[in-house]
Amino acid sequence: MNKLDYIVVGLGIAGIAFCEQLFAHGKRFVVVDSGKGNATSIAAGTINPIVLKRFTGVWNVEHFLPSAKEFFKKIEKRTGIPFFWDAHFYRILHSVEEQNDWIMASDQKKLAPYLTPEILKNENPNLNVPYGFGKVNQGIRVNTTLLLDAYRSHLRENGTLFESQFEYNKLCSSKSGNSYQHFLAEKIVFAEGVGALKNPYFNSGMLLPRKGEYVTFKSPELQLDKIVKGPYFIIPEGNDLYKIGATLDRNDQTPQPTKKARLELEQALKKMIQCSYQVVGQSFGFRPTVRDRRPLLGRLNGLHQAFVFNGLGTRGILGASSLAQQLFNLIEEGTPLPKEIDIQRFTS
Ligand SMILES: Cc1cc2nc3c(=O)[nH]c(=O)nc-3n(C[C@H](O)[C@H](O)[C@H](O)COP(=O)(O)OP(=O)(O)OC[C@H]3O[C@@H](n4cnc5c(N)ncnc54)[C@H](O)[C@@H]3O)c2cc1C
Repeated sequence: MNKLDYIVVGLGIAGIAFCEQLFAHGKRFVVVDSGKGNATSIAAGTINPIVLKRFTGVWNVEHFLPSAKEFFKKIEKRTGIPFFWDAHFYRILHSVEEQNDWIMASDQKKLAPYLTPEILKNENPNLNVPYGFGKVNQGIRVNTTLLLDAYRSHLRENGTLFESQFEYNKLCSSKSGNSYQHFLAEKIVFAEGVGALKNPYFNSGMLLPRKGEYVTFKSPELQLDKIVKGPYFIIPEGNDLYKIGATLDRNDQTPQPTKKARLELEQALKKMIQCSYQVVGQSFGFRPTVRDRRPLLGRLNGLHQAFVFNGLGTRGILGASSLAQQLFNLIEEGTPLPKEIDIQRFTS
């Protein structure tokens, strides 16, 4: 038996963020991950401090953003792979009323650090921007594929990655610890994203998978080097390639890209650009969302020293590091979680 402090199930952004806590505190652990990926591997990794529909601040952004920046810097240093950079987002304004709303929002003390008050003129003839742009500052773009690859390699080198599907019926949880295969750990943390719907110890009614799809297109004419947001984000990927998305579908649970999403995204694209393009790909994933739009963290009933890190929703890349710290402090120090993120709000 390999004696450990922790078993972590799942290596998306939640698993990575929790591992960073374990490294920082010198804990012995193993991560069990199927390598199939899901939300983190598909996300475009835009970290945007503003809700661009309503021009309001994202929940907890003042805590999440600095924590996310530190977290990514630490991982870059640890892995030696650069995978994130500062990014601005350009919101296409659709009317004089929206221009006014933008200016009013940028005047609010809480939002001023993130919103440039001037309305910016569009200089790109291939973009359709009749009322100008509002510019969002302090954003980040994370290449999640690079991050995941770098982190997996790092764990492999440390001998802390067990690359296989976690089989719940092989977990033996008792007062003497949690044993799984040849590992015996005091604690276990489940961070499987929507994979938790197959976890028999998890009340699956708490988690609502929300499908999101991107279309990738090529357009040598477009010559766009910034991230713009109209009905959807257009995200430059280099080599004349761009992503548009992501959709949010509450009902579709099918494990493949859909024609419906492609049509919806192409319709939006045609409103946003006025040059030719060619669709070259489509991708999808499922966001682990919760009814009240708050994460699901805390103790999992029915097992010994078992915990959940899930429900990261539509902005998990932003919130994961700060939330991981809160979960770690609960487990190791007994620091209570804020009620709004504690899984017990659904179970008690
Ligand atoms: C289309 C799309 C776009 C998005 N865009 C953004 C964005 O721009 N910015 C942002 O902040 N957020 C974005 N999000 C949300 C963000 O991606 C999620 O909140 C976050 O990635 C969730 O991370 P997670 O680690 O909880 O889950 P996941 O990333 O799904 O990771 C779970 C991991 O657990 C593994 N796993 C599951 N079950 C098992 C098992 N039984 N055994 C072994 N391994 C298992 C899976 O294979 C996976 O590797 C987006 C999401 C989607 C779907």
